[in-house]
Amino acid sequence: MQKVKFYSGKEIPLELHKVRVVQKLHLRPIERRLDALKEAGFNTFRLSTLDVFLDMLTDSGTNAMSDNQVAAMFQADDAYAGSQSFIKLQAAVEDVLGKKYLLPVHQGRAAENIIGRTYIKKGSVVPMNYHFTTTLAHILENGGSIVELLYPDALKLQSDNPFKGNINIEKLEECLIEHGENVPFIRMEASTNLIGGQPFSMKNLMDVRVIADKYNKMLVLDASLIGENAYLIKQREEQWKENSMGDILKAMTGLADLVYFSARKLSSSRGGGICTNQKSIYNKMEALIPLYEGFLTYGGISVREIEAMAVGLRETLDESMISQSPNFIKHFVDRLDNLGIPVVTPAGVLGCHVDAMQFCDHIPQNEYPAGALAAAFYLISGVRGMERGTVSSVRDENGVELMADVELVRLAIPRRVFTLSQIEYAIDRLTWLYENRNLIGGLRFTYEPPVLRFFMGGLEPTSDWPSKLLYKFRQDFGDSL
Ligand SMILES: *Cc1c(COP(=O)(O)O)cnc(C)c1O
Repeated sequence: MQKVKFYSGKEIPLELHKVRVVQKLHLRPIERRLDALKEAGFNTFRLSTLDVFLDMLTDSGTNAMSDNQVAAMFQADDAYAGSQSFIKLQAAVEDVLGKKYLLPVHQGRAAENIIGRTYIKKGSVVPMNYHFTTTLAHILENGGSIVELLYPDALKLQSDNPFKGNINIEKLEECLIEHGENVPFIRMEASTNLIGGQPFSMKNLMDVRVIADKYNKMLVLDASLIGENAYLIKQREEQWKENSMGDILKAMTGLADLVYFSARKLSSSRGGGICTNQKSIYNKMEALIPLYEGFLTYGGISVREIEAMAVGLRETLDESMISQSPNFIKHFVDRLDNLGIPVVTPAGVLGCHVDAMQFCDHIPQNEYPAGALAAAFYLISGVRGMERGTVSSVRDENGVELMADVELVRLAIPRRVFTLSQIEYAIDRLTWLYENRNLIGGLRFTYEPPVLRFFMGGLEPTSDWPSKLLYKFRQDFGDSL
């Protein structure tokens, strides 16, 4: 795609779409935000959107749809079985992802449930580049475990490695030799979500395929964030510069035996899917879809969303559409990086990731620096980010905290949702918070659910630091919202 150059020489991401439907936002006073935080147990998941200004919690199910997606929703074929909407989706999956057989599921983790129940048993070991929260939960739930095989610099947060999501090929081979028959499949996650939305290279995926063939293992691709991974391959991997998005996507999925995705991200709609070209893989899972999801032609997804998925998948091929989010994220990350604020570099996909371990280097990891930073940032800005650190981790069987590799606050940039001035506002408030970072204190759990505790868990500050932060805000910003 040709780039638009500015006469000023500035690099500014330019929106190649216009706004036609808007939703009013709520920027409440900081005093109300402090009350809201207390009501939410200092967990940004539990905030009401009436108290949130910019919702950067997630890019899941929060992306803007195109006019063509919305239009398609009105043509949905309401039928329990044999819906034409599903036929359209099947065709889009085949055209875009190159897979003939499609099992619809209501979202990404539902695919993980079906795959987990089918392939994971007690003692199973799944090698992968990196886990996602729900992936790990489903593998553990079925008695398996995971091995994460990154190259050493992948967890170095500030780096210029363009492909920090690459799996360590040598370690992968060692792992397959060590665990042999206990490995049901190799899992590759496009744009490793939890370590900053970092992509893998095509070369790396090709190398995985060679190993998978050598040891006769199935290769499973989590394609939830594949569109942006493909775009970054085009940007960063010389050999693929001249290829279309369609070529790159098909080359990626063509290397995998089984591909699954969350349509809450890929295709900017809601739903999910498991797809393959091997009838035997399809047959193994087929019976579980009506049991857990719905009939095979809707899988728990509304037919309207299935129409939107079909159109959204095809739009993934449009570079001016798929580039919007990575380009906005790059602007966000580069601006913060230039201001000296610790963020994960290079810019990845799905959002900007602030390194809480550096930002709040005075908060010990067992007081959840990323959780504290997410709460503090919401308090002083109304911007809701998400903790991706030890709160999102788990305890071992003895109840001992397993400290996360990284403590990140993810500021997600849903696709085509925010304007550049809103990004500038987030940068401005984050800069202020960085200057006042010593006022931020730790958190501790008051309510800790046993599974996926980060969603509904409740915490409290270890001191009255939130009031001190509020006081300083009022001193510096007067009566500003
Ligand atoms: C979001 C996500 C999932 C889970 O998808 P849901 O639709 O939220 O259930 C799985 N894998 C990755 C990489 C994701 O980003």
